[in-house]
Amino acid sequence: MFKELIERFRQGHRTAPFPPGPEKFSDRYLGLPRLTGAPLAKAAAACPVGALSAADSALDMGRCLFCGACAKADPAAVEFTRDHRLSSGSREGLVLGSGGTFRASGEAPPDLRRLFGRSFRLRQVSAGGCNACEADCNVLGTLAFDLGRFGVQFVASPRHADGLLVTGPVTKNMELALRKTYDATPGPKLVIACGACAVSGGPYAGHAETLGGAAAVVPVDMFIPGCPPHPYTILDGILRLINGDIV
Ligand code: SF4
Repeated sequence: MFKELIERFRQGHRTAPFPPGPEKFSDRYLGLPRLTGAPLAKAAAACPVGALSAADSALDMGRCLFCGACAKADPAAVEFTRDHRLSSGSREGLVLGSGGTFRASGEAPPDLRRLFGRSFRLRQVSAGGCNACEADCNVLGTLAFDLGRFGVQFVASPRHADGLLVTGPVTKNMELALRKTYDATPGPKLVIACGACAVSGGPYAGHAETLGGAAAVVPVDMFIPGCPPHPYTILDGILRLINGDIV
């Protein structure tokens, strides 16, 4: 018993601060992309999912897998910053143009922020996800991220939830389950689409067995891009939704 207490004392406070400092991200981390304004043809040809359009000089973060292939193919055209704040309240808000600046957004209306700002319960729906986004949501419950300190908690039943967090491209098999889960959640409620698949269908966009993301089935209030999004990106999106602009 004494040994455990001494070890606890030695380890000290393990919960990470939020917003996170740059030391919290690995060297390989790719955050907010930036188009430099140089022609995108070479970079777009390297993109495996068509997230980059040379014709429109635009990058759709909602489809982007953050694989970095475009920046590797043409570092003069695409750069990646280390900014983890990527969420948007609108699907169009995730489309970056050349030289444009992106500002994370998606705050719920003031009355809902008052209602949910200190206590927000989410039911997670994996609608055909590969478990990567789900794993990064799970990790928010660990002591490092400590989601509970913000008054946010994942719950088992939609009847106890204030909103849904949807992952996966929404396969046809999961459409009814998602619809029923949404209907079972008492209003007012908020919906978060988490990860490229839930935002746009991701690599499965256009596949006959998927519906191209959560917005095809339920109204979405917050889009969190990434494949999967970093846990801090998810946390930023959730808190931005219920607390307004945080940083
Ligand atoms: S980082 Fe995004 S835009 Fe660039 S190649 Fe990968 S998926 Fe395409």
